[in-house]
Amino acid sequence: MCIGLYPVTPKNYADFNSRWGVYASEVLAHAGLPFKSLNANDPAGELPLVSILLLPTNLRLNDTERRLIMQFVEQGGTLIALGGTSGLEEVFACRDGGKVEEGWIGPSPQPRQGAGGASAPGTAAPIMEILRRGQALHAFGGRRLAVLSAQARELAVWLAPESWNEERGWDGAVAEGAAVVINDYGRGRAVLVAADVMQSIVRLQQGRPVHVDAPPAAAAELNDGILKVDDGIVLDFARDREIIGGVPIFARPMADEWRELVIRAILWGAQEAGLDIPLLWYWPDFVPAVGQISHDSDGNNPEMAQALLNLMQSLGIPSTWCIQYPGGYAPEFYQRLHQLGSEVALHFDARSGSIGTNWLEADLRRQWEWLREMSNLPVISNKNHYLRWEGLTEFFLWLERLGIKSDQTKGPTKIGVGGYPFGGSHPWFPLEEQTLRFIDVLEVPHQTWELVSRWPIAVGQVMVDKALENGGVAHFLFHPVVVGRSAAVANALSGIVAYGRERGMPWWTNAAIQDWERRRREVRLCGEHPPLSAGGGPLVWKVEAGRELKRAAILFFTGKTARSRQSGAIGASGEWVQAFGFPARLLVTDLVPGEVKQLS
Ligand SMILES: [Zn+2]
Repeated sequence: MCIGLYPVTPKNYADFNSRWGVYASEVLAHAGLPFKSLNANDPAGELPLVSILLLPTNLRLNDTERRLIMQFVEQGGTLIALGGTSGLEEVFACRDGGKVEEGWIGPSPQPRQGAGGASAPGTAAPIMEILRRGQALHAFGGRRLAVLSAQARELAVWLAPESWNEERGWDGAVAEGAAVVINDYGRGRAVLVAADVMQSIVRLQQGRPVHVDAPPAAAAELNDGILKVDDGIVLDFARDREIIGGVPIFARPMADEWRELVIRAILWGAQEAGLDIPLLWYWPDFVPAVGQISHDSDGNNPEMAQALLNLMQSLGIPSTWCIQYPGGYAPEFYQRLHQLGSEVALHFDARSGSIGTNWLEADLRRQWEWLREMSNLPVISNKNHYLRWEGLTEFFLWLERLGIKSDQTKGPTKIGVGGYPFGGSHPWFPLEEQTLRFIDVLEVPHQTWELVSRWPIAVGQVMVDKALENGGVAHFLFHPVVVGRSAAVANALSGIVAYGRERGMPWWTNAAIQDWERRRREVRLCGEHPPLSAGGGPLVWKVEAGRELKRAAILFFTGKTARSRQSGAIGASGEWVQAFGFPARLLVTDLVPGEVKQLS
């Protein structure tokens, strides 16, 4: 095996914040990386099986664990640690400098160069690139570091929050200790991201519990008397927003960037160690990102719906129609959508307040059953009317109990919270934070409602650009009732579809996105050494699918000291592409259950 994921249990919490470390399995699974969750009873005992060890959060390790992990690195292993040193100060050449509840990390102004060793200057460029991309990453939890040795390289620092200002942003911000450090140790190497990456991702995506309106901010009158998802935003309205097309929005998918920092650290470690490592790309055919258009049927006007369907047909793409109770379209219309490859989804109404349209699980069930009966179609995804929301993840549990597989409610109701109010363009599975159980509902966030009439076109284009940059989903909502009344909005819809398409982005339904993601989660990338009886030899990578996955794109990153490969192995063929800042060979193949393919 290749990547070992260290277990996080109450027994090894360094403090209460360690609990969010469990989200690492979701991050690695979505990244498409091969990993093994180490045995919770004897994790250090399994170190001989792994080449890269991930400590997903700051942990309290016992003496034996610490000794074995130090030995592992000394002997050539790669250690990636998140959230703090976990008591391994010597390996990182860093001292713990105290707790950070909330803060920002930015690229080190002058990354200190190593005095020698395996990490020649410049090899950490792909890690620096993601740190520089956004200037400052918003962290929830973490530890400040003091670098102890000139050999350790400081890649990022904590930025003093009060040194941000409106005119110059983070330029010239005061550093408050190291945040990301790499160090050579023995024959191995270590990366420490001292921000609590997993807690940050969970907090950004899931927000804070919604019980009252959020206070108003510029271009975001959130105090509207309606409880909705964007009352739970944890991002900073001053430091985390940017002006795009004249309006302030959350323009950066911050959770995506945290995820990518972890992926890049792992790939860097593999490259430095001379390891080959495969990764299942997010989308088929190595397309850079996927787009989604969804429609909420507010008003249920059949003529408006037909006009929008005509437009979508002329664009030649399927879309997701979220239908609001009590409906109004003819049953044949739903059938027609289905025949055309579009999706009929639910637009749960917990806003109107009449009987059957309140924030109640029973009302969700009733509306869902109504739509299934009315349309005579399966209904597997949902978006809430007016993005209604209460609590933290309770609504996901309602969906899970009904077997609704995907939700798309996370998004903005106000201009000033457009973009990525929940941190990402990537789909994600929620974590029930009380029990630390994953909820089987895939969230596919959206970034805007009508372009032109609500957000400038420029915002839509930036959202497509960001999805392309991060490999995520660009998801735009267009109501039939608004498109039907405004030629400008109809043009904006056509324009954004063309903009994405010209850049290689296919447009999918929510149903297709969730189906693809679930199928790819059943792909197993497995590395094994040939048995000694067969002569032994280097790790051989194989891929196996639990369900069919057509045109799966497997990237094969080869270590610095790439070995010559056996002929016929597919890792040795394929074109070279660039992903996450590293070169990789690309293999596109149909995966079929029961068939094992050799990669190296
Ligand atoms: Zn609505």
